[in-house]
Amino acid sequence: MKLRSEVILKCSGLSRIHKSYHKYIIILTLISFNLNLKAQKLTVDNSNFFYQIAPIYDFKQSIVSLTFDDGYISQFTVGIPLLKQRNIPATFYIITGRVDSITKSIISDNLTKDFEVGSHTVTHANLVKIGSEDAKMELLNSHSFLQRNFGVNSGLTMSYPWGIYDNSVKQIARNIYLAARSTDVGYNSLYTLDKYALKMQNFDKRIGAYSANPWIDYAIQNHLWLVEIIHGINNVGYSPIDSSVLTEHLDYIKKVEDNIWCSTVSNVIKYIDESKNA
Ligand SMILES: [Zn+2]
Repeated sequence: MKLRSEVILKCSGLSRIHKSYHKYIIILTLISFNLNLKAQKLTVDNSNFFYQIAPIYDFKQSIVSLTFDDGYISQFTVGIPLLKQRNIPATFYIITGRVDSITKSIISDNLTKDFEVGSHTVTHANLVKIGSEDAKMELLNSHSFLQRNFGVNSGLTMSYPWGIYDNSVKQIARNIYLAARSTDVGYNSLYTLDKYALKMQNFDKRIGAYSANPWIDYAIQNHLWLVEIIHGINNVGYSPIDSSVLTEHLDYIKKVEDNIWCSTVSNVIKYIDESKNA
């Protein structure tokens, strides 16, 4: 560059130097603009690269967590055998005040490390409406019930009844649980994760496997954490899905299992927390 400006000075008259100087400034500006663009592009590329290899367990492309709400009996009698046949883990958010002795023994009999029992409060209360003192009791009592009855690995995460929460409810949840699932529709990015408002896709009776399977594809393509929510199965419970639809979906999860880490909500949260502290 220095050489070029000397050449210009030596070989040109004043007006020519003036013109070339302008041209030179324009070239410099263009070069610098281009470098800036390249620098920006490089930053984006870097983050994409980091994004792909960062903290998904076993270098998988995405995470899938199946969650079942409300503790309907068919989740345990129909859902768990289908999950067990395929070694697919799941989280069950149960309403502890509605757990009778039969449900308690079915859960205990089926509880393996693949299954998490989480809280869906004691009475399925609207946590915003009942006020923070009662909300605290709902969250605290269901947590201790689960730990007492199903072991210390239970009651680690929760889901908000009807998906209703506000900042004060979130704060109470933060003091008792590792995470809380909302019913806000979406996928969870590990980089902008709100652990106390985990987003979900609602697998209800209107959704066939033809709609639910692409959620998995989307999570894989975009390196996201997909949390699904299922209520009733086979005509039992709210908006029940047919066991044949669940079977088709679980088979799809197995088909693409090389690309996904399928785990319980608490396991995923523990893994994320540990990765961040590593
Ligand atoms: Zn519910």
